[in-house]
Amino acid sequence: PHTAPRSETQYKQFFQKYPYLREEVNPNCGRIDLPVSPVCNIQCHFCKRGLNKEQNQSNSVILRPDQAFRVLDDALALWPEIITVGIAGPGDTLASPHALETFRLVHSKYPKLGKCLNTNGLLLREKAEALAEAGVNMISVNMNAVNVGILAQICSYVLHDNKYMTGEIAARWLILAQVAGIRATADLGMAVKINTVLIPGVNDHHISEVAKVAAQVGARFMNIMPLVPQHKFSDRRSPTDQELNAAKMAAERYLPCCCHSSTPGGMLKTSG
Ligand code: SF4
Repeated sequence: PHTAPRSETQYKQFFQKYPYLREEVNPNCGRIDLPVSPVCNIQCHFCKRGLNKEQNQSNSVILRPDQAFRVLDDALALWPEIITVGIAGPGDTLASPHALETFRLVHSKYPKLGKCLNTNGLLLREKAEALAEAGVNMISVNMNAVNVGILAQICSYVLHDNKYMTGEIAARWLILAQVAGIRATADLGMAVKINTVLIPGVNDHHISEVAKVAAQVGARFMNIMPLVPQHKFSDRRSPTDQELNAAKMAAERYLPCCCHSSTPGGMLKTSG
């Protein structure tokens, strides 16, 4: 079983084992994010990716894996204190092969760098072994609900294997994929963190359930982010500081929180 650290001593041991997790707690630590993932396979109501309608593709700056690798080389020459490479978007990192390709290149030259991948989790189970082989040692999963009725209010569609799903069918598919993906990557020794966007009136009374389920299947940390009202949620409001604190306290019954209250809702991404 994967147990989240609870005491000071357990935290110390945990960070000795996963030193690259420190920058999740201290964003000033050395980390570089490489924007290599152009597309997404789901649509969250709060995410405005600036889609190219033909390809469901983000218009943000995207690097090819070889370009990203050269950027990392140059960055390490200038800032040797970088200890972690992250890939978080701007689309989903597993919806195209670019993130895996980039991590393979990075791992072949820099096996000791921490490697973090952020994903919505739809393809996490099927890519788990490939991620481990590419040296990925930390996964962040965007998990906003574990109840199909609630998730159906947050996610408008899921696209998997040429199947386009909406409503509760899409929500059920995504939750089951996330749970299987968290379990598989945790079993392979990766540290799994959950990112949850707090959306007043939608999932604010559901945060402890998300933390509970995530902890049960192997997650070690949770990050609760305030909604930034945009796209289909542009008429909703951000949570107050009190609401964020209440959500954090509810979650911490099951998972330690490393809340970045200034991080915008949506994926923790480098661009887009
Ligand atoms: Fe995709 Fe992430 Fe945007 Fe959701 S927030 S639609 S998972 S890119």
